[in-house]
Amino acid sequence: MSSKQLNIAVIRGDGIGNDVITSALAIVEAAEKRVGNLGLHLTELSAGAAYYRETGVDIAPGAEEAAGKSDAIFLGAIGLPDIRHEDGTEISPHLRLRELFQLYAGVRPARAYPNLPRQLQHPDAEKIDLVIIRESTEGLFYTAAVHNRNPVANDDEVQEILRITRPTTEKLHNYAFKLAAKRKNRGGKGLVTCVDKANVFRSMALFRKIFDERRVRFPDIEASYSYVDAQALNLIKKPWDYDVLVMENMFGDILSDLVGGLVGGMGMAACGEIGDSHALFQPAHGSAPDIAGQDKANPLATILSAAMMLDYLSDRSGRTDLADATLLIEESVYKGFEKNRIRPMEFGGDMGTRAVTREIIALITDGD
Ligand code: ATP
Repeated sequence: MSSKQLNIAVIRGDGIGNDVITSALAIVEAAEKRVGNLGLHLTELSAGAAYYRETGVDIAPGAEEAAGKSDAIFLGAIGLPDIRHEDGTEISPHLRLRELFQLYAGVRPARAYPNLPRQLQHPDAEKIDLVIIRESTEGLFYTAAVHNRNPVANDDEVQEILRITRPTTEKLHNYAFKLAAKRKNRGGKGLVTCVDKANVFRSMALFRKIFDERRVRFPDIEASYSYVDAQALNLIKKPWDYDVLVMENMFGDILSDLVGGLVGGMGMAACGEIGDSHALFQPAHGSAPDIAGQDKANPLATILSAAMMLDYLSDRSGRTDLADATLLIEESVYKGFEKNRIRPMEFGGDMGTRAVTREIIALITDGD
């Protein structure tokens, strides 16, 4: 039995958000049947573009407050291309949550699974298993994240700010080293690579300086550096050499899509957004309205995001049953591909959302 109830704010959102959240919650339930009741208390909160069309607001009254009081937020997908604010911007209450709760560490794992289409023919490509940590509250998105931060913005010139601050960067690098240590305990390489452009930008030199200050606290973890241009090259030439890569916002935006492309597609890309006292977990893909409600969406990015959420809750609470559930889900997904029992339509397979979900539940339940 769990010692304490954990409150999860669930936002299904738009399009396939509903399909993939339903699937992931069923997987968590199956894991609970194996490891015991995890004491999760789910509260559904309405938000998104469809909700905005109905009500004129993008998130239900009181929902931000409820999300703030939760132990974790679990989100499907938000946004529909034809529903926008009057100024043309997309409906994005989740970006406000990121800003409100200062979710600075964007965690994007990329792992190669057997029997998935591969972009790299090299035999070592099956060993790709890395995590990009994208700072998500400042960097080169600082001006864009909240309006009116541009020092100059007119028809002749626009300036954006690349902002690196010590408190956020210290926390970010700490997070990277701790994650590498945890992965090392589970058989990982124990390596953190600081990706920057410290040879050109003062902001990036500070980013690297703080990395150097933090690394001495983690003597068991190997630390290395890379300029972002060289890193882009090496992520194509030898991505299997990397473990945890930490970088500012825009570099992370670009490189996380690149590594996502190396190991499959949108439907595999899980994402965690971590702050000091809040965290949000969601698939990296959007609402894919073209396939919503048709039992076609690949739910694995959301299932793997749910596993990350349980791991985060385990770290915060010190409860090992939550970590056991994480590993059980991750291993079942891996085994499913290995035995060719999971064949999502996204990759030309014959299995829709429900069939993939059923098969993972069977793998979790039977254990083989
Ligand atoms: P956003 O800007 O909100 O991230 P996007 O415009 O990048 O969204 P997505 O909604 O992520 O687009 O999806 C683009 C296309 O990729 C979809 O139309 C769909 O065909 C495919 N796709 C995305 N996610 C999945 C998934 N989980 N399973 C199967 N196909 C998907």
